[in-house]
Amino acid sequence: MDYPYLNNVRLTIPMKYAPVRNYINGEFVEAATSETLDVISPVDGALLATVPLSTSHDLDQAVKAAKKAFATWSRTPIKERVQVFFRYKALLEKNLDELARLVQEENGKTFVEAVAEIEKGSELSEFACSLPQLVTGEVLEVSKGVECRTEHVPLGVVASIVPFNFPSMVPNWTIPNAIALGNCMIIKPSEKVPLSVGRLAELLQEAGLPPGVFNVVHGTNEVVEAICDHPDIEAVSFVGSTKVAKLVYQRATSNFKRCLALGGAKNHLIVLPDAIPAMTAQNITASMSGCAGQRCMAASAMVAVGPVDHIIEQLCEEVLKVVPGQNLGAVINRESKERIERYITEAEGLGAKVLVDGRQATVEGKENGTYVGPTVIDYVTPDMAVAREEIFGPVISIMRTRTVDEALAIENANPYGNAAAVFTQNGGMARYVIDRASAGMVGVNVGVPVPREPFSFGGWNESRFGAGDITGKSSIEFWTKLRKSTTKWNPEAGINWMS
Ligand code: NAD
Repeated sequence: MDYPYLNNVRLTIPMKYAPVRNYINGEFVEAATSETLDVISPVDGALLATVPLSTSHDLDQAVKAAKKAFATWSRTPIKERVQVFFRYKALLEKNLDELARLVQEENGKTFVEAVAEIEKGSELSEFACSLPQLVTGEVLEVSKGVECRTEHVPLGVVASIVPFNFPSMVPNWTIPNAIALGNCMIIKPSEKVPLSVGRLAELLQEAGLPPGVFNVVHGTNEVVEAICDHPDIEAVSFVGSTKVAKLVYQRATSNFKRCLALGGAKNHLIVLPDAIPAMTAQNITASMSGCAGQRCMAASAMVAVGPVDHIIEQLCEEVLKVVPGQNLGAVINRESKERIERYITEAEGLGAKVLVDGRQATVEGKENGTYVGPTVIDYVTPDMAVAREEIFGPVISIMRTRTVDEALAIENANPYGNAAAVFTQNGGMARYVIDRASAGMVGVNVGVPVPREPFSFGGWNESRFGAGDITGKSSIEFWTKLRKSTTKWNPEAGINWMS
């Protein structure tokens, strides 16, 4: 098969899916543009669909619909609003296989990983269903007949801009909480993986969400910029690379919007000589190769402290069990594959030793897929690009140090701060690292320390701009504002009237 993924020229090959459309006011509608991009499957290079490059006009239509819906939705009691998410959760579970196949097709991850992504969406909805128990306000009689009371009030129309690496889960970081808390949302999916969100829109509608409460506007920069500028959008959440997170944060906040922008990552795993070799090797392998290394929580740098060659040997054995096309998915596109391979080649040229080499990976029958094999690079130095930059591929760069403090200095010097982990059997040493790693999420003998609900997800430093976290209890502060009311009633008035 010769699919046109290299030059964006449409051949005579039919697309698997109909052209993607925006979803506004409960209907799938054409964008006000004929400009489109191709949606190519990383699995085999097949042309899946086209996605419209929507304009600020399309966004404005969505904002108008959301604003109209907000009047009723925000006044619907939260206990009623969350009923939609009980049903949505059940629909995610009912349609698990189909949703996972779609994620797999457009993103390239394995089916098992895609299933986990949908299941996480179900867990996120479960959290949203518990919001009525968490958002009760406070009330206190502060002096005779005078009460102070707080309430979490929805913001209005809010926007969510999402990346390619979790086509379904990252949208579900924001959709259930923001909407259950009474907001109306516009989401801008990644143009590389626009199909899953359209399916989520259908499921939300089936779950009973009224028209206009959830809207999807596809596209790229123009839509994102229009979101940051639109006067009727109150809050913007962004998940993606640090470069774009900074642009979005600056632009949205300069327009006086609330913004939480999560960026890229470079996660360090510190391995001490007393770590359990098999468990450590398995954990690091899963962390660096899961989702083909395209996770903001992926292990990307390993800092080996002291004599840990026996663990590195075992790590290489584990990594060799990871096979492209079997238990390792594709990376998103050819540009990514080439970028990742360039990083490996450059490090090798600078004297690093490639212990396991994933360059030249191909999968039989899927020659147009974009696969990179798992790669272990040893004797990396902190100044090399593979040590400093986010590679976003199944590559682990090993740096050697003599002490934990040297390892922490390397971790601390990195501008990112999403996750870090330490592998050791010494509790005191683990605590020492937890206290000193400069990362929002820290693991001990856990390679991907993603906090499960109800704990919140969010990094530090250049991995997050804005206050608070995007999921869990912390997200309540982001998606609502606090109303403080003080009331005064004559406590005797009722008695007098009655008598
Ligand atoms: P990206 O920054 O390229 O794109 C994210 C979104 O921004 C997309 O919707 C895209 O259309 C839009 N966009 C891209 N360039 C833009 C520009 N110049 N102006 C305005 N909008 C623009 O990110 P990606 O490649 O889709 O995703 C991978 C990145 O996301 C990685 O860096 C990864 O670490 C990060 N990520 C972070 C987290 C986290 O929680 N911190 C979670 C998932 C992914």
